[in-house]
Amino acid sequence: MKRLPKILAIVLALLAVVYLCLEAYPRQKSTRDSIQVKDWQILWDTEGSAAAPDAPPERVLQSPDWTAMHEDTLPPARPAGAEWAWVRLDIPQLSWTIPAVMMQKVYGRDVMVYTEYRELFDAHRQYRYSMNNLLLPLRTEDAGGSIYLRMKINETRPGIIEDVAFGNFYELLNDYLNQDLLDVMLGGAFVLTGVVMLVCAMFLNRTYMKSWLALCFVILSIGLLVISYSPFLFTLYPAYGGVLQRLFDVSLFTLLPSFLYFFQAIFGNGYRNVVLHLSRIQLVYSSFCLFLLVGNVWTDERYFSLYYLLTTTVLGVLMIVELFVLLTCSVFYSLQRNKDAWIFNGGLAVFAGIGVFELLQYYATQEQYDLYWWKWGMVFFVISMIVVLGRRFAETHNQVLQYSKELEMFNNELQRAEKMEIISELAASVAHEVRNPLQVTRGFLQLLGERSAVSDKAYIDMALEELDRASGIITDFLTFAKPGAENVKSLSISEEFRHIEGVLKSLASIHHGKIVLDIEPDLYVRGNSSKFKQAFINMIKNSIEALPDEDGKITIQAVRENGEVVIQIRDNGMGMGPEELKRLGEPYFSNKTKGTGLGLMVTFRIIESMQGTLTFESKKGAGTQATVRIPETTS
Ligand code: ADP
Ligand code: MG
Repeated sequence: MKRLPKILAIVLALLAVVYLCLEAYPRQKSTRDSIQVKDWQILWDTEGSAAAPDAPPERVLQSPDWTAMHEDTLPPARPAGAEWAWVRLDIPQLSWTIPAVMMQKVYGRDVMVYTEYRELFDAHRQYRYSMNNLLLPLRTEDAGGSIYLRMKINETRPGIIEDVAFGNFYELLNDYLNQDLLDVMLGGAFVLTGVVMLVCAMFLNRTYMKSWLALCFVILSIGLLVISYSPFLFTLYPAYGGVLQRLFDVSLFTLLPSFLYFFQAIFGNGYRNVVLHLSRIQLVYSSFCLFLLVGNVWTDERYFSLYYLLTTTVLGVLMIVELFVLLTCSVFYSLQRNKDAWIFNGGLAVFAGIGVFELLQYYATQEQYDLYWWKWGMVFFVISMIVVLGRRFAETHNQVLQYSKELEMFNNELQRAEKMEIISELAASVAHEVRNPLQVTRGFLQLLGERSAVSDKAYIDMALEELDRASGIITDFLTFAKPGAENVKSLSISEEFRHIEGVLKSLASIHHGKIVLDIEPDLYVRGNSSKFKQAFINMIKNSIEALPDEDGKITIQAVRENGEVVIQIRDNGMGMGPEELKRLGEPYFSNKTKGTGLGLMVTFRIIESMQGTLTFESKKGAGTQATVRIPETTS
């Protein structure tokens, strides 16, 4: 959440830059010292033929049917059988050293331009892209005459010509080149990004591959779409016009399935796998369209109207359905507070908003409007997709890190547990075997001590002391336990503690302390009685050893809580600091001169084996509280 303002700031800055670029761009044109022409005349020619005349024929020049037209008005309806249209423009005063005329939109696949006496331009296109962007030099003596355009109108584009300006050739050239350069740059940037991402894909591992490749193809096809939709390349490389148009179709066919695939890879299959099904349908349909494209090229566009119906009209409907479904899914995910969905939706909303606005404009102006802003919406949307993918990668990466950390922790834990198992098995059996000979030796040493000389008595005392230390180790381990005695049964807590109290009462009074029992009746746990006693004796012994010199008190409380028996052992002894608390249960950790550091290790193991937990709370100087939780059973 803290990063949100930063992200917002970046997005706003980007928007501002884009806006400024766009603002600066059209203004350039209006500063030109040129004459904009908005009025001309139009004539439908029913007698025109494919053969181009060298100059406008007499019947055209003299025709009474010329209709005056303004830039904003539509031409008169095309009469039946009229394939050709003529447009006549009056040439104004040409005061420039190299005068020229620029017509930014001239619709027609075959276009010829004349003055009364000579031909200025002649182009025939073998492909269906009817927009021409013309810049034609004139002579000063052409002033006062007219320009005649002859166009073959195949499509129902009604505008015929737009944006006509007379001016200085070099200034117009500047505009002419600038016009759609932005498109090519934008598209080129997308294509480059896509290619770079494709190259990077070689180094990616498989988990990322799917979404990455999908995004690569989305970006690549968007780039190619933008480039091949722009009139710039058609003007610059007229010979490749056909290729460009096919490129447009192919990019559209690849864009849709890869976009769906990307969505599916990021957000899943959607409600009832609808996204999955859609992406499969689209993949099949796109392949079908590709097949049609090949067929269309093969048959020399003989069945173009069918091709157009299937690859443009039907595809358009499919596209709208898909967008609607994706938008619904994505809004749904956003409602579930999926951050990726928010980002994705933001991008999509900008894109869709601009797209809808422009389409409305397009229909409102009776298909005169040229879609322009949608590209910037696209930029926004692509950025949002990259961000979503990047976030996905980061998330996966973090997850892997997390897993490896956990794995390491489990591994350590396992190793520790194994070590403990071996140590305690071994130690318990050794201790058990050693106890008897030790006791016998102690008895004989005591006997010897009573009889020996005073000088020897000191040595014998030392020997006795060392023997006691050895037996202390054994006591911590197995006061009651015999190795392998796995006699598990239901234990009565109050009974066990009565026994334990009996064992430890005298030890407590030696340390000037007393033991207080507060045990709820009828508490039972499952376990081995000897081991249970062993565990609590070790703990209570520690408490006794920590007691102050007077008024020591140890409270043992047992209650029932949520199906567990909770046993608390509290003392008012010397307590422990956090460092010590952390090390409790570690073998051989002891702060006592004669300590073994084994007592709590054994205790932890026993409690664990009863599916219980043991926690300590303590403060230096204030006492200690140990809490044991063991699942309760019935008697
Ligand atoms: P030992 O008693 O032989 O030292 P333990 O494993 O029983 O070994 O205990 C380890 C250490 O934990 C003790 O040395 C002591 O410092 C500390 N300790 C355990 N219980 C208490 C307690 N109730 N009060 C203060 N310190 C304690
Ligand atoms: Mg101890």
